Amino acid sequence: MRKKILIVLLFTFVILTGCGKEIESEKPKFAATILPLYDALSEIGQDKIEAVLIVPPGASPHTFTVTPAEIKSLQGVKAIFENNFGLEEWIGKLASNVTEAKVINVSESFKQTVENHNGNPHLWLNPDFFVQQARVIADTLKESDPQNAGFYEANFNGYSSNIVDEASKLKESLKSVPNKNIISFHDAFPYFAEYFGLAIIGTVEQIPGHEPTPKEIANLENTIRDKNIKVIFNEPQMSKDLVNALIEDTGVKVLTLDPLGDGETRTTYIGLMDYNIQEILTGLK
Ligand SMILES: [Zn+2]
Repeated sequence: MRKKILIVLLFTFVILTGCGKEIESEKPKFAATILPLYDALSEIGQDKIEAVLIVPPGASPHTFTVTPAEIKSLQGVKAIFENNFGLEEWIGKLASNVTEAKVINVSESFKQTVENHNGNPHLWLNPDFFVQQARVIADTLKESDPQNAGFYEANFNGYSSNIVDEASKLKESLKSVPNKNIISFHDAFPYFAEYFGLAIIGTVEQIPGHEPTPKEIANLENTIRDKNIKVIFNEPQMSKDLVNALIEDTGVKVLTLDPLGDGETRTTYIGLMDYNIQEILTGLK
């Protein structure tokens, strides 16, 4: 009799606590700081994981500040994949609030490359480098969930070969462009330019997130005139006021390059790459 009551009580308790409480996902949860890494994570993990994006589309990782809502959404995360090299300066603060999560630098093997580029962190924009970053994500998922290692490996292989194929097609499409000089808004594209054979001859912002000084603007306008630059590539994450001033002063055309993805029309790495090369083709032809 007592036992019966206990069971009934237990049952009621389960029902009561079951109501109103969010159903926790059974899947292991992982996070990525920026959209391209999130794309790799989602495509490699697919339905076996829960993937969280930290810097929302439209925000700049250089100037991002962590909110309590973000910290809440990261509870239970096993690992956070970061590009590193100063891109995500806020990661330390975030990690100290999500202590169970390991922060994984997907760019560990690029130390020397980054040093050779004065610390420039925008490695993912070179598709070959990005595939190596995705490799780190795949290896981490395999280690953390060995039962599904074959699944993650197959997904990585499909994902990376699609990227490599598309990148080489896009590279080919740029061969016919005679003038490959570009000015970008901030210094996000050196690795991208190296891969695709473009020459970046200037940037609007010398320090990401910092407006250039009047002297820097004057120098840039001289470069635009001297080198007969017709197009400047702005970025959706950056302020447009400055670019408008440049248009007024020099008459350049402004197109938009996107280093991260906007989450609407550019939600995947391939979509991002396609878009950027199309803009460059439009601007330089
Ligand atoms: Zn940047």
